[in-house]
Amino acid sequence: MELTKKDFIYEGKAKRLYTTEDPKYVIVEYKDSFTAFNGQKKATMSGKGVLNNNISSKLFKILADGGVESHFVKQLDDTHQLVKRVKIVPLEVIIRNITTGSLCKRLGVAEGIKLPRPLFELSYKDDALGDPFIIEDHALLFGWATKEELDKIKEISFRVNEILRDYFAKKSVVLVDFKLEFGKDADGNLMLADEISPDTCRFWDSSTGDHLDKDRFRKDLGDVLGAYEEIWKRISE
Ligand code: 5GP
Repeated sequence: MELTKKDFIYEGKAKRLYTTEDPKYVIVEYKDSFTAFNGQKKATMSGKGVLNNNISSKLFKILADGGVESHFVKQLDDTHQLVKRVKIVPLEVIIRNITTGSLCKRLGVAEGIKLPRPLFELSYKDDALGDPFIIEDHALLFGWATKEELDKIKEISFRVNEILRDYFAKKSVVLVDFKLEFGKDADGNLMLADEISPDTCRFWDSSTGDHLDKDRFRKDLGDVLGAYEEIWKRISE
């Protein structure tokens, strides 16, 4: 059965969700909106939703080929994806290969240090609190995830890093860091969810160091969509 968009469920900062005829699946619509600094900075750029949908769909397929299960089922059109319906675990996983961003602000460490191994960090997914940094014990003690789930989340996150780091290296892009979200389906199966795009990853050009991600928007570096187009051009070849 070809599933179609039915009722609106939810609107986030970058995406909208709709039900389908089958309760196991929902449709994600990628919007043209940019937000940063917990929604304080906003903009709309025509074509952004298409780029992020294309990029995210491609990356979920690359991960599936590498054995990483996600909520992604298929790309439906320019701005829509069919995904499995999951309940989002209220954690944001950050994997870092190179120091930058909030890590440097928080700990005062220098920018651009290549870490000897990937760093795994957790935030509590709560906009009102600004997604605060947490340790695993917070997640366990407040019931946001079980030990088994956290172990699985960590294992999948490192696997995602290995696959995408190698993939992007071949495209002359350094995968600096990224954020992942996980969800559980009605049977309790844990899987990768949300999106993987220049909104959620830092990509640096291997030769020039140019930022090809949302940092162009956050830091007013200009040509934001050009950077997203460049990522799409390199991975669609
Ligand atoms: P940082 O903690 O340095 O701000 O971000 C680390 C990485 O995770 C970056 O690639 C950044 O884009 C991503 N990231 C962290 N938090 C969020 C968030 O709330 N939304 C999005 N889209 N990406 C995030």
